[in-house]
Amino acid sequence: MTEATEKTLLAGIPHQLLIGGRWRDAEGGKTFDVNDPSTGATIATIADGSVSDGLRALDAAHAAQAEWAATAPRKRGEILRGAWELLQQRKDDAALLMTLEMGKPLAESQAEVTYGGEFLRWFGEEAVRIHGRYATNPEGTGRMIVAQRPVGPCYFITPWNFPLAMGTRKIGPALAAGCTVVIKPASLTPLSTLFLAELLREAGLPDGVLNVVTTKSTGPVSDAIIADPRLRKLSFTGSTAVGVSLLKKAADNVLRTSMELGGNAPFLVFEDADLDAAVEGALLAKFRNIGQACTAANRFLVHESVADEFGRRLTERVRGFKVGRGTEEGVTIGPLIDEDAVSKVGDLVTDAVSRGASVLTGGHVIDGPGTFYEATVLSDVNTDADIFREEIFGPVVTIIPFSDEADAVAKANATEYGLVAYAYTQSLKRGQRLIESLDTGMMGLNTGVVSNAAAPFGGVKQSGIGREGGFEGIHEYLETKYVLTPDPFA
Ligand code: NAP
Repeated sequence: MTEATEKTLLAGIPHQLLIGGRWRDAEGGKTFDVNDPSTGATIATIADGSVSDGLRALDAAHAAQAEWAATAPRKRGEILRGAWELLQQRKDDAALLMTLEMGKPLAESQAEVTYGGEFLRWFGEEAVRIHGRYATNPEGTGRMIVAQRPVGPCYFITPWNFPLAMGTRKIGPALAAGCTVVIKPASLTPLSTLFLAELLREAGLPDGVLNVVTTKSTGPVSDAIIADPRLRKLSFTGSTAVGVSLLKKAADNVLRTSMELGGNAPFLVFEDADLDAAVEGALLAKFRNIGQACTAANRFLVHESVADEFGRRLTERVRGFKVGRGTEEGVTIGPLIDEDAVSKVGDLVTDAVSRGASVLTGGHVIDGPGTFYEATVLSDVNTDADIFREEIFGPVVTIIPFSDEADAVAKANATEYGLVAYAYTQSLKRGQRLIESLDTGMMGLNTGVVSNAAAPFGGVKQSGIGREGGFEGIHEYLETKYVLTPDPFA
């Protein structure tokens, strides 16, 4: 990838706020920089929206709401489908842009463009499948009509780790349902959202239906939008701590909310597992996105009879990883998002080692430029280590032995999170027991990746509220309206 290609791409990305169908500067012309985490270099300077800008975006979403809700579902679906087609034409640009702002290897960005794009296609198809019902009431004296209507203007806050897919996973169902949107992408990775917004405009999305506010004043801008009575829905993807504070604020305005929060996924390997398959699954579940995924396997619970062998085979593969800038050929591990992330991962590893863990490979910060940490495997991790409880968000495997199925399940469930669990076993009965006993919203049984636009993605406990994707996803953006009429024959 040449520097010139990168510069040309970046020069063509919108850098202003999208409000009411127009790209505009932020109030007072304020801007902030976006940096490449693999070099630390500034790659773009974009609008830094104010509270007034945020409210102007909500004005636009509110003004466009009635007409968008009345737009034929087929038309809404075709606009989403059109945006998906444009994304296919620009998929290389979308992937490179993501790698530049977020750091993940190009092949992973390409996979995210495919995955993220699927939410536009899937919900383009779902737009025409919003159903209600008509029934005689039990007494036989009337007719009950149950209709589904769009919730109304929505505010979306998205994280930096999947800069495209976390946006399309919300925008797709909202637009399909007939809701208008204000979206605030993570300030570390706003470019993919700006790119996506332009594609949706090109696909014919009417002015004001999607508004984008980039800002460094995240708290004040969000607080003002969330407190405004014209807003009807808040959907957030990010850390549990921020999610909790947003839920409290949303309560004052009695908003519908969807929360996609943190995880602490267990990855269970039983003595009867196909170990090679488990290692392949582990590599995907752990190292995708450099470990910076809410679905990342955080704790590898391995039966004591196979723990050493699993660790040996996994370590051999991890030693073969190539660390570097995501645009370079063959790189499998890119940078972490920033210095704070590197320090946090380093502290967790140091703490685990001080409590008895052994380092099978890695365990060090890599010197800059860029914010890199070695791909690391730790064995014999103690359950009192911080790394057992906290989301690592980095390329670190922690192997924790267990003695039997009850011990494995108890350890797996010993967390306030409940997003996803992975389990490797060749026993059908054990697999079925695990489906029922693991407290998570999702599970990968003999597989290391669960994400799919056709699947209801989401967690239980402190991992969140609601589901994104699948048939369920559109219901987050629909309200039920019930009507009773008298028996027309009476
Ligand atoms: P984060 O710090 O919570 O930030 C996420 C978003 O919230 C960003 O847009 C951020 O804006 C914004 N934000 C921060 N403080 C805010 C406030 N006071 N009010 C309103 N918005 C605020 O999380 P992150 O570090 O970006 O993302 C990592 C977390 O996301 C992990 O915990 C991960 O598990 C979770 N995640 C969950 C899912 C899921 O589907 N369950 C998917 C992906 C990630 P700024 O960028 O401007 O700070």
